[in-house]
Amino acid sequence: EGKFYQFMMRTKQPGGKVPNKLYLTMDDLAMTHGNGTLRLTTRQTYQLHGILKSDLKETFSTVIRNMGSTLGACGDINRNVTAAPAPYAKREEYHIAQELADDIAALLAPQSGAYYDVWLDGEQIMTAEKPEVTAARNENRNGTNFEDCPEPIYGQLFLPRKFKIGVTVEGDNHIDVLTNDIAIVVVMRDGKHVGYNVYVGGGMGRSHRNDATFPRAATLLGFCGPRDILYAVKAIVCTQRDYGRRDDRKQSRLKYLVESWGMERFKTVTEGYYGKKFEPGMELAPFEFPTYLGWNEQGDGKLWYGVHVQNGRLRGEMKKALRNVIERYELPVRLTANQDLLLTDVDPAWKADIMATLKAAGVKDVTEVDALERLSMACPALPLCGLAITEAERGLPEINKRLRGVMTKVGLATSEDILIRMTGCPNGCARPYMAELGFVGDGPASYQIWLGGTRAMTGVAEAFADRVKVADMETFFEPIFAMWAQQRQDKEYFGDFVNRVGFDAVRAFSKSYVPA
Ligand code: SF4
Repeated sequence: EGKFYQFMMRTKQPGGKVPNKLYLTMDDLAMTHGNGTLRLTTRQTYQLHGILKSDLKETFSTVIRNMGSTLGACGDINRNVTAAPAPYAKREEYHIAQELADDIAALLAPQSGAYYDVWLDGEQIMTAEKPEVTAARNENRNGTNFEDCPEPIYGQLFLPRKFKIGVTVEGDNHIDVLTNDIAIVVVMRDGKHVGYNVYVGGGMGRSHRNDATFPRAATLLGFCGPRDILYAVKAIVCTQRDYGRRDDRKQSRLKYLVESWGMERFKTVTEGYYGKKFEPGMELAPFEFPTYLGWNEQGDGKLWYGVHVQNGRLRGEMKKALRNVIERYELPVRLTANQDLLLTDVDPAWKADIMATLKAAGVKDVTEVDALERLSMACPALPLCGLAITEAERGLPEINKRLRGVMTKVGLATSEDILIRMTGCPNGCARPYMAELGFVGDGPASYQIWLGGTRAMTGVAEAFADRVKVADMETFFEPIFAMWAQQRQDKEYFGDFVNRVGFDAVRAFSKSYVPA
């Protein structure tokens, strides 16, 4: 008798790296202690839903004993560090991004032993921290007086709010890097690693009817050399720790500090912790948005295969088939920031069997997935998230199909795509404010529509309309897509088109539009 409380567990995997053993463990846990499914998140981690309170300890300790962790996956602390997950063997910049993600995760991991006390009865069975990271943490405290505190960076109070960091390479914005509190881009010149461009103050969360809250793309702080990056990260975190607002959780993310101070003041204060000046940012090649799906050469004779996972939900025959090939060939896996997964280190001789196994289970190759579906993502929302106002994961597939129908009706080819993201509330977990078309739940079966984000996710969209009902999607979008089809220049992306013509022109066209 009594209530059965259930929980969601989120793992921490810098850069989305999942060792083979951990993949199999998570796959098992979903069946034995979860709800039979696994959720791949937008920050390259797992979420396991439906864990009963009585199973928590066993579930957590199983993850920790199998090369996983949940330490810092939630709370007012540095969250999972995202990094460009493409497993290019010979492209040094990708290795640097992944290694830096690991180092930052170690640098900003809480030092308290409570985590192991709770889940492993005090036994610390492993540490991912490299000696040089320990050294970096112990040196260069820059006047922060936390010598006697068990948390040398977080102090007694931890951070005012959650904190997100992403690392990518020049030109590759798969991870939507500018949505992070700290966005880092590896800079190579003439084949040599020269340092990092560092951006600050990104973040998606906002509230409806509260204009003091807003999504923001990170802006350039400056450039630092390869040896300075951990000091720079620590300085930014310390600035937020000491000056970020703690009196109002809706104003406590780093983005509000950067906005209220302006970049010059933020830079000056941060440099006080850093102990030196940031150099001016380097000029970088424009970003693109690679999905990494399908078959790709790693560059070391091996292949990787990117599998599209609808809204990151692994279940049923797909889950079984993936487990089969991952177990059979002992494949390491990477989770992408678009809720998909990459089977890595595939010997070309295994390709035919992998394809046959997945095909038999009905897993579609990327070439068979609708172009809207391929790019889109949604947060879990109903029934799994307590903040959800309306559907997202369960609602988006059907809306994608209906949008495809509208696009076809106005003469757009089935190969045409739009970057679509949907969330069940304005918190923005699936980053809808950076998408070309964002759906943000604002009532039962209704969405605020955001337009004007770009394909490469370089700027924040704007709210175009409120309370658009699910039932009205066709009538709402037909004029907008018709205008795009008629007035686009060359193969202009939807987001670029909306930005060029402007909201007023789109509204005027919609008003005078006569459906075919
Ligand atoms: Fe929940 Fe809102 Fe995040 Fe969706 S965006 S998972 S509804 S908090």
